[in-house]
Amino acid sequence: MTPAVTLTFDDGPDPVWTPAVLDALDAAGARATFFVIAPRAAAHPALLERMHRAGHTVELHCDRHVRHTELREDQLAADTVTALARLDELGVRPRLWRAPWGITTPASEAVARAHGLRLVHWTADTEDWAGHAPDTMLRRVEDAICDGAVVLAHDGLGPGATRTGCANTVAVIGPLAALAADRGLRCEPLTSGAVATP
Ligand SMILES: [Zn+2]
Repeated sequence: MTPAVTLTFDDGPDPVWTPAVLDALDAAGARATFFVIAPRAAAHPALLERMHRAGHTVELHCDRHVRHTELREDQLAADTVTALARLDELGVRPRLWRAPWGITTPASEAVARAHGLRLVHWTADTEDWAGHAPDTMLRRVEDAICDGAVVLAHDGLGPGATRTGCANTVAVIGPLAALAADRGLRCEPLTSGAVATP
């Protein structure tokens, strides 16, 4: 397989920022994976269609953005069933699951198994939610950009975000893809054989 890195985007889709992220990915010749919040996906089906047309993949983040440590297993199972049903109506059948804040519990594992989902984490975190400048984010992750790296960023504002928009995330996509290319890495979506487990 060609050496590759995956850019991942959580907490979208967002009607303002996701199109800008998609434009930046197009311009960089990069394909990515989006871990969506299901009600947001249901509200913006055209953005999901655009993701698919461009060769990106759409996977599960959550229905309600709640830490798994704050949910009983039956509550987590119900959240997942609701999210998967919403996504199924959009023709999306996730194989991968990134939990809110990346926090997983034994219940996460059980629910994942029940739905044929694989929990995935990340190997490099831009911490873009904090509003860092693009250069700062690039420095944060540059040492970790290698074959198999999974980079965490956000195309929407989640409950923990301390910024008002995703412009800096949009701005860092081109430089990130260029850095990957310098290292002989393509930007490709995560596959269900993904290795970045929690
Ligand atoms: Zn999130």
